[in-house]
Amino acid sequence: MDFKDSPEQAEFRRTVRQWLQQNARPKNDGAQRKSQGELYEEAKLWYQKVADAGFACLDWPKEYGGAGLSQLHKVIWSQEVSAFAEPDGYFVIGIGNCGPAIMHFASEEQKRDLLPRMASAEDVWCQMFSEPSAGSDVAGLRTSAVKRGDKWIINGQKIWTSGAQHSDYGVVLCRTDTEVSKYRGLTMFFIDMHQPGVEVRPIKQMDGDAHFNEVFFNDAEIPDHQRLGEVGGGWGAALLVLMNERLAISGVQPDGFPEFLQLVKTLRLDGEPISSDPLVKAFLAECYYRHAGVKAASNRMLTAVAKGGMPGAEAALGKLVGAAMNQDIANFALQLMDGAGAVMEPELARQQAHFQKTVLFSPGIRLAGGTDEVMRNIIAEQVLGMPQEPRADKGMAFKDIPSGNQHP
Ligand SMILES: Cc1cc2nc3c(=O)[nH]c(=O)nc-3n(C[C@H](O)[C@H](O)[C@H](O)COP(=O)(O)OP(=O)(O)OC[C@H]3O[C@@H](n4cnc5c(N)ncnc54)[C@H](O)[C@@H]3O)c2cc1C
Repeated sequence: MDFKDSPEQAEFRRTVRQWLQQNARPKNDGAQRKSQGELYEEAKLWYQKVADAGFACLDWPKEYGGAGLSQLHKVIWSQEVSAFAEPDGYFVIGIGNCGPAIMHFASEEQKRDLLPRMASAEDVWCQMFSEPSAGSDVAGLRTSAVKRGDKWIINGQKIWTSGAQHSDYGVVLCRTDTEVSKYRGLTMFFIDMHQPGVEVRPIKQMDGDAHFNEVFFNDAEIPDHQRLGEVGGGWGAALLVLMNERLAISGVQPDGFPEFLQLVKTLRLDGEPISSDPLVKAFLAECYYRHAGVKAASNRMLTAVAKGGMPGAEAALGKLVGAAMNQDIANFALQLMDGAGAVMEPELARQQAHFQKTVLFSPGIRLAGGTDEVMRNIIAEQVLGMPQEPRADKGMAFKDIPSGNQHP
């Protein structure tokens, strides 16, 4: 790993920093916490501004709305923008996950049409894989796509779809064949979220927001040219999306450490700086080594990607440790702050209930993009080379796999 900028990268960093100083809002500007709708509108404006300045999707080709630069330029951008308060990771599912699927599988005409609008967030995209009975085991999904002439008719239900209520398009994984094994009977498509036969129902979480949704398909018709990849090739296409998801979230996934460090530096308890408390010091030290480890693992992955490799299973490590740490920090910080931890008024509490919000949302981060247990399985099997866990449905036709919906 070499973390030193080349002269060209250093120049790019200077340009980015200068532009951000002139165009981005500083952190802790005292702004009140916003509603989800307001945040969404703000994010759209920010993405448009970034695109107008030529910094959107830096590693995408220019003809698709990108800047034709490298992954390393993207890393430099992420590092610099993280010092500001802008919602830069807001549309990461569309751009980070769906973008590569369109880039890989769509026709040239579709790419030129769809990708620039995705890059500037003029169109927002969501990813519809999970279903009520297919989350960790996503290949067990049941939403069907049946070919009729040159159209596909989609029926079924997705769940936990982040941002579907704000989305214009979505990538959807469907079952097109039940006679073959669960992996071989899947096909991927993209669909207009506003078309007939698509119904989105937001799910309210315990923090009051509705981050994700149920999506119902009732005879939703799509033309064959919205198929992404081969019929029956959906599992390979899904793996490509999930691999890119690992890369995309590794840049934006919070582990809570910078915010906690800031809190420890500023908080006083009974007139004494909180940083002199032995319990706080011990916890801070523990968080620091976890944070440093996550950062090193992420840098290692990014270095490999910058050299033309793919994000490896090691990314699971960052997700596993970072998500748990984010939750631990929020719980610890909220206890330290007592009642003030829940206060949103900036004059009374600078953090504006940041840690309380994290306490309520961080459990979800331990599930999203693969649960802790699934991450452990990936690390055990793909990093440590341990034997695969037994798969009872191996080689069975999907229609023969027993399910709760079948009656004797
Ligand atoms: C905030 C959030 C955003 C999300 N956004 C999206 C999205 O945009 N699009 C989308 O498609 N999905 C999304 N998801 C869904 C997410 O991918 C699933 O929740 C996740 O994969 C787990 O699936 P499940 O909820 O069905 O749980 P299940 O798979 O039913 O798991 C239940 C429990 O069993 C454990 N378990 C399951 N299999 C194994 C195994 N083989 N070994 C050991 N333990 C196991 C799990 O770890 C878990 O504890 C989101 C989820 C969250 C929380």
